[in-house]
Amino acid sequence: MRDFYSLPKLPYGYTDLEPYISEEQLSIHHQKHHQGYVTGANGILEQLDAARDKGAELDMKAVLKGLAFNIGGHQLHSLFWPSLAPAGKGGGTPGGMLGDAIAQDFGSFERFKKEFAQAAVSVEGSGWAALSRCPTTKRLLIMQIEKHNVNLYPAYAILMDLDVWEHAYYLDYKNARPQFVEAFWSVVNWDEVNKRLEKI
Ligand code: MN
Repeated sequence: MRDFYSLPKLPYGYTDLEPYISEEQLSIHHQKHHQGYVTGANGILEQLDAARDKGAELDMKAVLKGLAFNIGGHQLHSLFWPSLAPAGKGGGTPGGMLGDAIAQDFGSFERFKKEFAQAAVSVEGSGWAALSRCPTTKRLLIMQIEKHNVNLYPAYAILMDLDVWEHAYYLDYKNARPQFVEAFWSVVNWDEVNKRLEKI
């Protein structure tokens, strides 16, 4: 069966991240932007299916470029929403396996926070900061992803990601990306990130 992508529901309400992320910002981000990548990826899959059914030629370079962009956008957003928790329930400092791994690899949580924030603030243009762990060395690694699919480490699971496309924060923070990155620490869902780490 040929399956397609669908927009996941948020694990909280549209007002639950306020005042850090407003209802308007979150609604548009989820319903318009994330939906756009789902629609985009599905459209390309349909195009591939139709061409295969008809035996038609495809511009593989253009098709695959678009597919990587849209699938990347869909998957990173699908990881992003549960990386956040309602205001008052998220934030703080990570404990458990994640807290130990951060202390071991970065020296301290403060040092990790600083490096991750610098990665997020300095993404060139549109992109993401993400926390990952190398399957070989078991080191935690920060990724600075450009667009949705550039600078990813192949086969490295993403534990936590932060969207720093302007569409993620412009209504609330205008051009002040550092303020949005700072707000992220108040709603980050460490329990979810810990669970992801325990599963890989
Ligand atoms: Mn986004």
